[in-house]
Amino acid sequence: MNIDVVEILKECEALLEGHFLLSSGKHSNRYCQCAKLMQYPDKTERVISIVADKVKNLNIDVVVGPAMGGITAAYELGRQLGVRAIFTERENNIMTLRRGFEIKPGEKILIMEDVVTTGKSSMETVKVLENLGGEVIGLGCIVDRKASEINLPIYSAVELEFETYEANNCPLCKSGSTPIKPGSRKFSV
Ligand code: ZN
Repeated sequence: MNIDVVEILKECEALLEGHFLLSSGKHSNRYCQCAKLMQYPDKTERVISIVADKVKNLNIDVVVGPAMGGITAAYELGRQLGVRAIFTERENNIMTLRRGFEIKPGEKILIMEDVVTTGKSSMETVKVLENLGGEVIGLGCIVDRKASEINLPIYSAVELEFETYEANNCPLCKSGSTPIKPGSRKFSV
């Protein structure tokens, strides 16, 4: 089974190429918004099946998705693996497990994200789950941007490196184009 994840992401405009102003203030040649993929359960199922294949023999007890991006991805992965899927969320800016969700001591956990960039929120999630006695065995994601320093195995559907530039030293700006802010009302492909 050969699934072209990049092709699927482009089809649903989850992956755009051009000249973008990121929320960090940097400019980039690519932009990824996995929510656009997850509009389509059938496409999401195909993409996440790649991750499911990689982790199916790890005896995972529960998949945990950090909100917002991880919720749908974790749910679909949990569905394919036949295990529980829950999520963490921020309360007063602190990552936490709410809503009566529980982790039993020793449970094997896979964290599932949409996109992993720096891995900061993933690491916050790891701490929360380990404090509850869980054993985090890895990090699943749809897109691994290969920019994280996470000390856990990463199981991605696709690896995509983005070129990012400081706003005052952007070759795309120098070539005369203007960056577009993704998600803005004027934004179109
Ligand atoms: Zn630029």
